[in-house]
Amino acid sequence: SPHTPLRTLNASKLKIQYTTQPKPVPASDAPEVISHSACTDHMLVARWDDASGWADPEIVPHGGLTLMLTASVLHYATACFEGMKVHRGVDGKLRLFRPWLNCERMLKSSQRISLPSVDPAELLKLVRALCTVDGPKWLPKDTARGSGLYIRPTLIGTDHSLGFQVPQEALLFVVISYWAAPGQNELSISSTRAKPAPRGLRLYASPEDTVRAWPGGTGAAKLSANYGPTLMSHAQAKKLEYDQVLWLFGPECQITEAGSSNFFVIWRTQEDKLQLVTAALHDQLILPGVTRQSILELARERFATTKQNAHGDHIEALEVLEGKLSMFDIIAAAEEERLLAAFSVGTAAFVTPVSQILFRGQPIDINEAAVPHVDALRGWMTDIMYGKEISPWVDEV
Ligand code: PMP
Repeated sequence: SPHTPLRTLNASKLKIQYTTQPKPVPASDAPEVISHSACTDHMLVARWDDASGWADPEIVPHGGLTLMLTASVLHYATACFEGMKVHRGVDGKLRLFRPWLNCERMLKSSQRISLPSVDPAELLKLVRALCTVDGPKWLPKDTARGSGLYIRPTLIGTDHSLGFQVPQEALLFVVISYWAAPGQNELSISSTRAKPAPRGLRLYASPEDTVRAWPGGTGAAKLSANYGPTLMSHAQAKKLEYDQVLWLFGPECQITEAGSSNFFVIWRTQEDKLQLVTAALHDQLILPGVTRQSILELARERFATTKQNAHGDHIEALEVLEGKLSMFDIIAAAEEERLLAAFSVGTAAFVTPVSQILFRGQPIDINEAAVPHVDALRGWMTDIMYGKEISPWVDEV
C-alpha cells in the first residue's frame, strides 16, 4: 500500500514531562475542593488526526488548551467523556473500580459521536500511568477514608472548520479532580453495618415538557451533549431545594435515571414478593452505569436466599428485576406501604438513599431504613473498593 498505516493509540510510547510548579494539596474543605475544581498536578494528552492516527500520548503539567474558535467541539458538541474514581485502600494500595467497564463505555461513546475509537486497553494503561504520577501525592498513605481522586477521560473534535463533517482531528485528555470531600455514605468503612446516610437525597421529578433522552437518541452514551441541556431542570430542582432531577419519560411517567446516577427501588409486590427494581436498558434512554451493573450483580448473587449477615441481621431474599418502572407504580407502592427503599447509584453519588420525590408538586416520602439491603449493598461496594474484600472488580495501580 502506498499509505503508511495509521498509528494506533500506544501507551508504551508514553512520554512524561513532570511539573516544575507542584501545587499544594488543598484542605479537604477548601472551596475549590467542594466545587470539584481542584485538579492534580498533571494531565494526559494524546492527539489524533485522520491522516496519521494517534500521536504519542504525553503526561504534562495540568493546564489549559489552545483551540481554534472554529473547533468542531465548540459548534457541534463532538465530545464524550468518562468518570471513574481511584481510592486508597485499607492496606495503603491505590485501586480503580472496574475501570475496564468505563474504558469500554468510552469506546461506545466515541463511536456514537463520530470521534476516533479509543482502544479501551490502552486508555486504561494511560489512566493507570497518570494515577501512578499523581496518586502518591494527592492520596497519601494517611488519606482520610472516603477520599478519592475522580478521573475524567475526555475526547473532543478539534478540527478547525465550520464545515459539517465527521472530525478529522481530535484530542484525548485525562484530568483528575481531587475528591477529598467524601460522599456522605463513604465515611463509614464498617462493612455491612455501614451507618445509613445522614440525609437521603431529595429528587425532583422532571416535568412532562422536558426529557433527558428519547428512543433512538444518545442517552445511553456518555456524550457531553446529554448534559448541558439538563442543567436548566437541575437548576430548577436546586432552587426548590432538591438534589437531583429524576428523569421521567413518556405518558406513563416511566422512571429512567436520576441526575448523574441510576435509580433503584425495593418494594413488595401486591403478591407480597420482595423485589429490587431498576429501569431496563432499552430505547437508548439510560446510561448503563458501572455502579448500576455492580449493584445488580451483587444483589443477584447475594440476595438470592434469605440469610443473616456477619452481625446477625436478617436479610430477606429478593428478586432482582430490570424492567419498566413508572412513577404511578411508585405512588401506589408508597400509598400501600409497600415501598421499602429508593436509592441512587453512580460513581459520584455512590449508593445513596432517596428520602423524597417531588412529583407534580406532591412530595412522596420514602422510608430510608425499612430494609437492610441498601446498607448491605453499600457495605459490600465499600469493602471491595477499599480492598477489605478481595475482588476481581478492582485494579490495583
Ligand atoms: N446516569 C448518568 C446520566 C450519568 O452521568 C452517570 C455517571 N456516569 C450514571 C448514570 C452512573 O454511572 P456510573 O455508575 O458508571 O458512574
